[in-house]
Amino acid sequence: MSNEPAIVIVGAGEAGTAAAIALREGGWQGPVVLIGNETMLPYERPPLSKAILTEEMDPGPKLLITHQRLAELEIGYLEGRSVESIDRVAHTVTLSDGAQLAYERLLLTTGAHPRKLSIPAATGSRMATLRTYADALAIRRNIGRGCELVVIGGGFIGLEVAASAVSRGASVTVVEAGPRLLTRAVPAPMAELIKTKHERAGARIETGAMVEHIDANEGRSKVVLADGRTHLADLVLIAVGAVPNVELAQAAGLTVDNGIALDEMLATSDPHIFAAGDCCSFPHRLYGERIRLEAWRNAQRQGAAAAANILGANRPYEDVPWFWSDQYDETLQIAGLCREQDVPVARNLGAKGQLFFYLAADRRLVAACAFGSLGAVAKEIRFAEMMIGRRLAPKAEALADPAVSMKSLLV
Ligand SMILES: Cc1cc2nc3c(=O)[nH]c(=O)nc-3n(C[C@H](O)[C@H](O)[C@H](O)COP(=O)(O)OP(=O)(O)OC[C@H]3O[C@@H](n4cnc5c(N)ncnc54)[C@H](O)[C@@H]3O)c2cc1C
Repeated sequence: MSNEPAIVIVGAGEAGTAAAIALREGGWQGPVVLIGNETMLPYERPPLSKAILTEEMDPGPKLLITHQRLAELEIGYLEGRSVESIDRVAHTVTLSDGAQLAYERLLLTTGAHPRKLSIPAATGSRMATLRTYADALAIRRNIGRGCELVVIGGGFIGLEVAASAVSRGASVTVVEAGPRLLTRAVPAPMAELIKTKHERAGARIETGAMVEHIDANEGRSKVVLADGRTHLADLVLIAVGAVPNVELAQAAGLTVDNGIALDEMLATSDPHIFAAGDCCSFPHRLYGERIRLEAWRNAQRQGAAAAANILGANRPYEDVPWFWSDQYDETLQIAGLCREQDVPVARNLGAKGQLFFYLAADRRLVAACAFGSLGAVAKEIRFAEMMIGRRLAPKAEALADPAVSMKSLLV
């Protein structure tokens, strides 16, 4: 066991890698150890449902850091090993190879894993989920021209894979149990626009479609719906959401509440242990509630913010949530949280896209959601994000009028 107390980071994904870099940038000179259970350098997940599936040749993983940069920053990277337990009294972690490491502060960035279906489902090479680069390669092999793909779940990942598979020439059916697509994060009229986009591109979208079971007896997978309809597939992608990886924290007795529960400074119920990214929930000042995000920018910024607080910055984390998703040649961007209790205001950008703003009861702008061309959408969402962060209460008529520039509403 190494005796020099280190800052130990469990999980070498977006949040963990950002945190390791931020610790060095923040002036920490002691050891930094980044432990990851995947057998490769840390990489970005968003391309897994996009470029890795669509490009003619596999572009390879988009790395978050190189061996050279790890060495320059003196970050010890333990690859292909998982942390099995935490001893909060002794301040040590035990790894899958039996090694023990002492920590001065511990950061948990363990991410999330794909949710399983609660019905009988076949296993094997004709069934897939998507979280890792290896998962993406397995999907890539089965979505070429002439392949039949059935996607179970009309959320972001399912729809992105559907769009990528259509662009590769596969025949795609998306089966969603809910009454519409994207029920969790996107307003109904926006979900309808996205559905139309998919249907025009050639994907079949079936909502209100409950899967009863999936079997693989005929060489291909067979998806059987509750109403008796069946779909044969070369590949079935289960994309019904993600579950935070909390087992390690839970076994160590840390509080868990829809993820590892943090305070505003991103500390867990143990002041020596912090967390960041998809694995944790935290109270957000703008919304007055505890939230958990599964979003690339949040993981990156929260990892860096947790590192800063470990080093004593003592700054509450209050970034405006931001998310994007690419579907065919258009992009969806969301700033803030689209909640049912808030009042929607539509702004039509014509052929360039559609926006929805959300105003809270006190008239503050609390969310904006846009679907359309990247150029048009990104600018409007950026200004909306600033307004949300500054707690501004722009007039609904001005928001609805595309002739009123968003920038002018910032004043
Ligand atoms: C296919 C896909 C597409 C996405 N597209 C978008 C997008 O378009 N826009 C967007 O905003 N977000 C997107 N996201 C979400 C974004 O990628 C995630 O929010 C982000 O990766 C979360 O980072 P993280 O560090 O919290 O977790 P992860 O990146 O999952 O990293 C956690 C790491 O910890 C490891 N680990 C877990 N437990 C242990 C342990 N005990 N010991 C050692 N290692 C451990 C895991 O194996 C993993 O490598 C996408 C995600 C996926 C999967």
